[in-house]
Amino acid sequence: MDEIRIENLEVYAGHGVYEEENRKGQTFFVNVIMYTDVKEAGSRDELSLSTNYGEVCHKIHTCLRENTFQLIEAVAEFTAEQILLAFPLIQALSLEIRKPDAPVGLPFESVSVKICRGWKKAYLAVGSNMGEKAAYIKEAVEKLVQNPKIRKVCMSELLVTKPYGGVEQDDFLNGAIELETLYTPMELLEFLQQTEAEAGRERLVHWGPRTLDLDILFYEDVVSDVPRLMIPHPDMQNREFVLKPLAELCPYYRHPLTGKAVMQMLKELTEKNENFDLGV
Ligand code: ATP
Ligand code: CA
Ligand code: CA
Repeated sequence: MDEIRIENLEVYAGHGVYEEENRKGQTFFVNVIMYTDVKEAGSRDELSLSTNYGEVCHKIHTCLRENTFQLIEAVAEFTAEQILLAFPLIQALSLEIRKPDAPVGLPFESVSVKICRGWKKAYLAVGSNMGEKAAYIKEAVEKLVQNPKIRKVCMSELLVTKPYGGVEQDDFLNGAIELETLYTPMELLEFLQQTEAEAGRERLVHWGPRTLDLDILFYEDVVSDVPRLMIPHPDMQNREFVLKPLAELCPYYRHPLTGKAVMQMLKELTEKNENFDLGV
């Protein structure tokens, strides 16, 4: 991806662990590489199609001047997030905070923290089989849309499906959701669980009836195999009610472990089910 770079922006600010650093302040230098597509802006020579680096400099200046953090890690985290939220054409960035006058008590040139942050693509499964199912799902999508750390929310058609897992219960309404987020996978899970709780979700029986179920299917090509968060969702290849709506959103998206595209997983599952029905 193209880059816009800001090098050694100098800001006098008061971040540090010692009280004196907060009071007196010192010089910080900021380096940013913003990953963005500048083709259109360059071809048409049009600033409104790109990111105004002057505005980014002022945003960084404000972030450092109007806050006091102990750690340059915190300065970097906060500033990176503020830039990504304020300048939507920036897909990702690398940000370095340098503190050449840090009180170390030994001769040294500089100390710095550098982080990479950006908008990550994720796919979710959504389901409901209690009460006003469509309304629960609509409300959940609304909460995703309203969250500033989530954007480009796209919803599949909803499918009516028979319950899964052998528990006697009402039919399900299922769908898939595409989005981009600044959350880490674990933070995204926490937000989804909070949204489930707000919809009155109670975990009584595993695979039992629920007002709202939100699962992470994919998060970029991340693989996570701790029980609290399994990504990609370990059972997705066996669930038509997941693969069908997902294939609507991203038929060619590949499972990071098997390398199979969503469409291919759906085809294989459909064939397997047909053979099963035929008793093959
Ligand atoms: P299934 O995950 O088989 O569809 P379920 O959705 O009914 O089952 P829940 O009771 O909603 O299961 O969730 C049980 C636990 O699964 C949650 O507490 C959560 O920590 C964990 N979990 C693991 N991986 C994921 C994931 N990819 N998305 C959502 N929850 C997950
Ligand atoms: Ca589920
Ligand atoms: Ca779940």
